[in-house]
Amino acid sequence: DQTVDDSVFTTHESEVRSYCRSWPTVFTRARGSYITDQSGREYLDFFAGAGSLNYGHNNPVLKSALLEYIENDGITHGLDMATVAKGKFLEAFHGKILSPRGLDYKVQFPGPTGTNAVESALKLARKVTGRESIISFTNAFHGMTLGSLSVTGNSMKRAGAGIPLVHATPMPFDNYMGGVVEDFSWFERVLDDSGSGLNRPAAVIVETVQGEGGVNVARAEWLRALEELCRRRDILLIVDDVQMGCGRTGKFFSFEEAGIKPDIVTLSKSISGYGLPFALMLMRPELDVWSPGEHNGTFRGNNPAFVTATKTIEHYWSDDALEKDTYAKGDRIAKVFGDISDRFDGVSHRGRGMVQGLVFEDSTAAGKVCAEAFEAGLLAETSGPSDEVVKLLPPLTISTDDLDRGLTILTESTEKVIG
Ligand code: PMP
Repeated sequence: DQTVDDSVFTTHESEVRSYCRSWPTVFTRARGSYITDQSGREYLDFFAGAGSLNYGHNNPVLKSALLEYIENDGITHGLDMATVAKGKFLEAFHGKILSPRGLDYKVQFPGPTGTNAVESALKLARKVTGRESIISFTNAFHGMTLGSLSVTGNSMKRAGAGIPLVHATPMPFDNYMGGVVEDFSWFERVLDDSGSGLNRPAAVIVETVQGEGGVNVARAEWLRALEELCRRRDILLIVDDVQMGCGRTGKFFSFEEAGIKPDIVTLSKSISGYGLPFALMLMRPELDVWSPGEHNGTFRGNNPAFVTATKTIEHYWSDDALEKDTYAKGDRIAKVFGDISDRFDGVSHRGRGMVQGLVFEDSTAAGKVCAEAFEAGLLAETSGPSDEVVKLLPPLTISTDDLDRGLTILTESTEKVIG
């Protein structure tokens, strides 16, 4: 029997569970852009493991590499010992991702998930500079562990730590003040003010597009100005590419379009390609001041993830086909979102590549649209401080037919809710 009674979750699992509330069914299998529940109903998946499945569920190319590895008794867990799988990954990542982009980073495996990469980035920045504070932005999201949480701009999530965390005032993200305040004048002022507590920061941490924060897109010139400020003031620049990296915005790294070169980069989510827990922290080689064992842990260097990650690089990142496809599909989504925004008052849209958001002035509408979409067979989630944005993160490999089908469901769901 391959089914379970869904009461098992409400009875035995913590109240903290979240996505199962948006999608009240029990899932069993998934392939490509579709996920199936135990009643056999198929759903189009426009959430793709919160952006951890850029190449779709059980991608056949990656699956056969993984099956072959396991069939040959490849090492599954290996602490951070040297393994052939890790060596192949390092060769591919350096040779096919970093070198062609003129980037030179050393790679650290900080632990299994995105927040581990952020923790290690924050620790490293403090160790390298000998300074304490980190500057982050309004509506930023960097993870749920204490360090990452302290730079996350969401008070509800910070309150989960039990008491208000000591948290420095975040800087305004691009356009947060709607152009009323010039962000960088404020920024410079705070940095010059010894009373601000932010005048000697170790680092600035930024997402190029805030995913959880509501698909807030930083302009390339804003990112370049941020980089220039960091260089001039000797502050390390950390780009958190956990959600926007691995091709989500088009290019492999989301910061490439702006032409900036961060000192430290975090990656996770889609880096394994197969939805396996895996994270990287990239640092300029001269920043690698760690002492041996200073940031260790049991689950680093996930060997099956090395195998699938290497395969994604070889298969998808040896040319620019996926990048072009992502821009084209992103335009397709933006076009439909543009039509919806034109038709209905109080609706707008924003995004880059294959991360696109439909923004509702009435914040309750976004959740209702997602609920209607679920009834019609589509998974999509909300984001933003008031859950006012329907955020799409479909697999980059989705067919245009499936993309159009999902967009039709979303259009109809929006009509039902606010039409
Ligand atoms: N940084 C960003 C930008 C993220 O979007 C997330 C996850 N949504 C994280 C960090 C944390 O990653 P994880 O959930 O894997 O710990």
